Amino acid sequence: MANKHAIFSRKLRMGMIGGGPNAFIGEVHRKAIRMDGEIELVAGAFDIDPRLSRKMGRMLYLPPKRVYDTYEDMIPGELAQPDGERIDFVSITTPNKYHFPIAKAFLEAGFHVVCEKPMTMGVNEALALKEVVRKSRKIFMLTHTYTGYPMVKLARDLVTAGRIGRVHKIIVQYHQGWLMRALEKTGQPQATWRTDPKLAGSAGCMGDIGTHAANLAEYMSGLKIREVCAELTTFVKGRKLDDDGNVLLRFNKGAKGVLTASQVQVGDENDLAIWVYGDDGSMEWHQEHPNQLTVKPIDAPKEIWERGAGYVADASPAAALNTRIPTGHPEAYIEAFANLYMRTGEAIRARIAGKKADPLSLDFPTVHDGVAGMKFIEAVVKSKGRWVKIS
Ligand code: NAD
Repeated sequence: MANKHAIFSRKLRMGMIGGGPNAFIGEVHRKAIRMDGEIELVAGAFDIDPRLSRKMGRMLYLPPKRVYDTYEDMIPGELAQPDGERIDFVSITTPNKYHFPIAKAFLEAGFHVVCEKPMTMGVNEALALKEVVRKSRKIFMLTHTYTGYPMVKLARDLVTAGRIGRVHKIIVQYHQGWLMRALEKTGQPQATWRTDPKLAGSAGCMGDIGTHAANLAEYMSGLKIREVCAELTTFVKGRKLDDDGNVLLRFNKGAKGVLTASQVQVGDENDLAIWVYGDDGSMEWHQEHPNQLTVKPIDAPKEIWERGAGYVADASPAAALNTRIPTGHPEAYIEAFANLYMRTGEAIRARIAGKKADPLSLDFPTVHDGVAGMKFIEAVVKSKGRWVKIS
């Protein structure tokens, strides 16, 4: 692809923490950065086990000197690289417990950071990280993947333009079934840390996927969750964290809602879906069918908007910018990650060049979404059937 950045004649250089040979999301991040060819992976500490970190480095054809045993080794190692080789930013794809110390260390060493969600282990850490980001003056992107979908951006822009009127109700669900069996007892890596409070935090399912649903509801509607009343359940015997939860929501501006998240709804795969209701119409989006957005005006037939169509570009420059191929050829999960990386990359390039970033480039989740996510988790865990305010 031709270089589009006249002020910046090279790819951005990324380091990665996590994403070892047996990991899930690290490889998705790597596929996403390869998609547009604007970012190259040049270094990493890929696994909690140094031997597996080195193995991953070999699988990625990285020079051994840029593959580190620990993230602590990687910081001085990268600072010692010449200007033309050192990483510009690091991407953190480890279990939740490590997000805060790694993000803090790299920000304080002068690197931009991409970080997986949920951002930290608790609200105190989240507020501390917000302060570290502020002081560092570095870019911090939190990978709430679903905000990277073009039809989610279209929905957000249609709500902002008043297309469905004033929003009064939101239903959002994130339903999976893969944890109905106690996979943690078999040593399955993804299940093992997700059900361990020392590695995952105070919530299981609600932290893992409930936060995505909450973030999506806020992003699409422009509203903020101010109060929750939740019931969290652990259906699988012996499990230490919730694997299912139902939450009533009160948003600002008087809107109400319901959020359900589950990892024990057998047969459900990655069923994230949202319904936003206003006084002039409503809209509906399903992550498993992400190229369509359904808009239902109050006094006209239902509309199915198709990703890539010219009318989508007219209604939402953000949707158009985050679309690669014409209508009818599906785009989905990896493209959504690639969109987050593309926009973040543009913001980092602008920051390095001392220029103001285009507002469309800054359309990605930040440390503020991370703080909101941690406040949401803390409130739903505390609720136990009572209303809890989120400040
Ligand atoms: P995983 O268990 O598959 O992989 C974690 C990797 O991190 C492993 O390779 C492990 O060895 C490595 N690791 C652990 N501690 C480390 C350390 N201190 N230094 C270096 N490497 C370390 O986990 P996963 O499913 O890929 O999830 C990782 C993170 O991504 C979690 O925070 C999770 O919530 C998040 N996630 C986000 C999405 C999304 O859609 N945005 C999807 C899945 C997972």
